[in-house]
Amino acid sequence: MYRFDISKHVREGRRTTAGGRGSVGRVSFRPEAVRGAPSAGGLPGQIDYRLARNSVVAEYHRGRLSRRDVCDAHPELLRAAGSIGASAPEPCPICEVDCLVQVSYAFGARLPAGGHSFATPTELNRLVRRAGQVNCYVVEVCPGCSWNHLVRTYGAARRRPAAGSR
Ligand SMILES: [Zn+2]
Repeated sequence: MYRFDISKHVREGRRTTAGGRGSVGRVSFRPEAVRGAPSAGGLPGQIDYRLARNSVVAEYHRGRLSRRDVCDAHPELLRAAGSIGASAPEPCPICEVDCLVQVSYAFGARLPAGGHSFATPTELNRLVRRAGQVNCYVVEVCPGCSWNHLVRTYGAARRRPAAGSR
């Protein structure tokens, strides 16, 4: 109900062909798959999902959610975590063994419907230049136990060039 859950929304058979070159590029889930997240239009600003995330973690530690409930990252998300994910300073709140990895996705009207993953500000800038405006979703993933949750969302738009510049 409150978890970032792409597993049920990813269509099988539409695999990315990343080829191991660092970027997984197009992915096959949509922002609507992110529970509790705004689905249409531009995101108003940065939204932090730490409270929702912490309540899922608390429910797990109280025994109300099982590992199977919370550790269901899709293989595509795990692959992105392994290839372009940025290490987060915290250990995984579920297995407490592996360190978390954050993966960023951009969605926009002029991008593939399934979204586009990116690893660096330069890559994000390139997507913004192409799409004009994108909505970004940052997801934390544990490569060890497959825990996953939305961390934050934010909008990014192309800046108009200042007067006098190119
Ligand atoms: Zn874990």
